[in-house]
Amino acid sequence: MHVTNESERNPLVPPPPSKKYIFVKVLSCPMCGVSIEDSKITGLRLNCSQGLDPKRGEGIAVSVRRCNHCNLIYSSPLPIPYSLQDHYGIPPADYWGREVFYIDENYFALQIQKAKELLNFKAGMRALDIGAGLGKCMIAVSVAGFDVDGFEPSVTFREKAIEIMGISPEKLKLGMIEDVEYPRESFDFITFGAVLEHLYDPGNAISKAISWLKRDGVIHIEVPSSDWLISKLVNIYYKMVGVNYVTNISPMHEPFHLYEFTLRSFIENGKINNYQVVSYEYTVCSLIHIPGFLHPIFRWYMAKTNSGMQLTVYLKRS
Ligand SMILES: [Zn+2]
Repeated sequence: MHVTNESERNPLVPPPPSKKYIFVKVLSCPMCGVSIEDSKITGLRLNCSQGLDPKRGEGIAVSVRRCNHCNLIYSSPLPIPYSLQDHYGIPPADYWGREVFYIDENYFALQIQKAKELLNFKAGMRALDIGAGLGKCMIAVSVAGFDVDGFEPSVTFREKAIEIMGISPEKLKLGMIEDVEYPRESFDFITFGAVLEHLYDPGNAISKAISWLKRDGVIHIEVPSSDWLISKLVNIYYKMVGVNYVTNISPMHEPFHLYEFTLRSFIENGKINNYQVVSYEYTVCSLIHIPGFLHPIFRWYMAKTNSGMQLTVYLKRS
């Protein structure tokens, strides 16, 4: 399962709350493969925002674990909705304002530049956007000289990408990564925008993408970091006030993050799926909830200690 880039869904109208779940026990780390015995429970995560006083929160909680081997953060049991639309419901009509279809001229520019450097780029190289959403990334990559394909699981998003953004229907498949197929070694550049953290089995998804990648191709992935400073501070606060909760991941509420990753998660997964991390970057991103006068020092510290919110990795086959 995957969803479209979150950046395309902002401002996101929250989907309807999920009603029914299947809770699946996790047996091993989905990235490095070690047993769940080789992880520790860090706390509980409610199916809603926990705020400063989670004891007042009402809801269902799952255990959050941190893999001792690769530091992946995940939950066990893993909540899987009966209906995909419980999580990724189609936004109401008022979501489709004109601004939703606007593409900033710098959209995805840094990622394309980095990919071109790593690829020794030539015009006409083939690219694939996993979770294409409204097709903005496909357009940016196409303008940059790639021949772009994509796929998207939401019927509505795919329709809008074709009708309004002008994406060719032959270039944009409908489906989830588990169902979509391409010939082996089809693409030079494959991008998972804000996708991998939503998938039930991220290791399998990367394995499938690797099979579609040409020998010297590059995969780009952006995910939430499990070493984000702000989460660590909130967790310390929860401990200090004596509650057994953590703020990591959001398996049963928006934005439905099932995982947080470290660089080591990819290094270890690369040993299983035959790839190497050839470049990586931590990005500070949002400093929401931090007073403005503290932003410079937080930015400096997070940049220095690789404790920003987002981790970006670029992978090549080994
Ligand atoms: Zn692991």
